[in-house]
Amino acid sequence: MRSAWRRGMATAGAAAVLTAVLTAPGAAADPAVSTGPGVEVEIPGPERGDAAGSGHTRVPRDGRDRPSPRLSAAEQSADGAVTKLLDNGSTGDRLDIVVVGDGYTAGELDRFHIDAKEMWAELAGVEPYTTYQSLFNVWTVDAVSNQTGVSGDPGPDAVRDTALGSYFWCDDIERLLCVDQAKVDGYVAKAPEADLVVVLANSAKYGGAGYNEPSETLGYEGISTASAGNEKSGQVAIHETGHSLGKLADEYFYPDYPGYEQYTGPEPGDSNISVLTAGDMAAQRAKWHRWLGEASPDGGVVGAYEGGGYYVTGLHRPTDNSLMRSLDKPFNLPGVEAMIAGFHRHARLATAVTPTERLLRLRDTARVSVPRLTGSERHRLKVRWYLDGRELKPLAGHTRVRVTDLVLLLLDRRTHKLSVTVENRTAAVRDPEIAKALKSTVGWNVRL
Ligand SMILES: [Zn+2]
Repeated sequence: MRSAWRRGMATAGAAAVLTAVLTAPGAAADPAVSTGPGVEVEIPGPERGDAAGSGHTRVPRDGRDRPSPRLSAAEQSADGAVTKLLDNGSTGDRLDIVVVGDGYTAGELDRFHIDAKEMWAELAGVEPYTTYQSLFNVWTVDAVSNQTGVSGDPGPDAVRDTALGSYFWCDDIERLLCVDQAKVDGYVAKAPEADLVVVLANSAKYGGAGYNEPSETLGYEGISTASAGNEKSGQVAIHETGHSLGKLADEYFYPDYPGYEQYTGPEPGDSNISVLTAGDMAAQRAKWHRWLGEASPDGGVVGAYEGGGYYVTGLHRPTDNSLMRSLDKPFNLPGVEAMIAGFHRHARLATAVTPTERLLRLRDTARVSVPRLTGSERHRLKVRWYLDGRELKPLAGHTRVRVTDLVLLLLDRRTHKLSVTVENRTAAVRDPEIAKALKSTVGWNVRL
């Protein structure tokens, strides 16, 4: 961790709390805002503890910057360079995170790469990212800014000429760090694939934003913005992936916000908030009923705690204080399950090492590579081989099979289908619908 990543809270703290008091409750932090021009973003909470004071607002799609003078030839050649910071395999089989820096001059690109590494290290330190880190690739795209730092730091009137037009004080909220989405997309498009985008601002000021609308053109699930030099900003980015990857709702609520005293609507579609009490949930076998009574990583026992989805009453959350409510807390058990489901939407557990378009003959070997999970989950990936759909049980667990080993089964000299399925049997997933999606298969045609 860069030391600045760990500092800065003392100075940012007082201002951010003051802003929180001023803006939430208040029009700027209205969680119900969802219409009007611009794009909806989540405002990060006060940096310590309870995320009340967060919320959503609509912001312009454009950034705030000065008209760009021309980059020098040297700067132009550095601009847009793509680096694979973490390589765990092909983009088609991995969840690709693209990190773009803003407010880094050409001379500061080395710093950006260090900051991007530290951002990934922080993400990889939180479960279930830790266990599943081998499912990720991390890319950096260099964006050369004319000036160092970003607009709105230290004060609302500070304007800097940066590649992505990032600015604090977005929508008059100090900690809301907005970007010019078109400019971000211009850089993201240079990476081979983007499932998730993080914009790192060259700043120590606390802040961030969650743009959780999936990109129709580039396919990514969302953009999180964060200050590279601020510890809590990284936590904001992780919280935002709870929305973009986990499709989780916020578990915080507004104690003093008119209109949010009581929820009276229908059962929400989100997996981690519910109108049901624990008893009703168990009886109806609904929502997170499979986890009720279990000890959760964020502390306490899974139940149905009143308050969540911004409402003080009428909606329940699974645990008192998970990462979807408070920064610096882990995901709770239903949250971990949802994140694992999200990871497997983008990452595949079986990768063919032997090209699948090749017809395998007698001297060939079929090879598959399987990611290595960390910790106690590493033995949970089950590898099974099939010939024409029938399991070859003695081959279970193997990652290579020689055609000669199958010779007695192939004597008819017809073309047969050899396939291998890798399935994740993790105890962290209890929903059978999610469990069904945690496997992938590759196959080859084989003939003597
Ligand atoms: Zn949120």
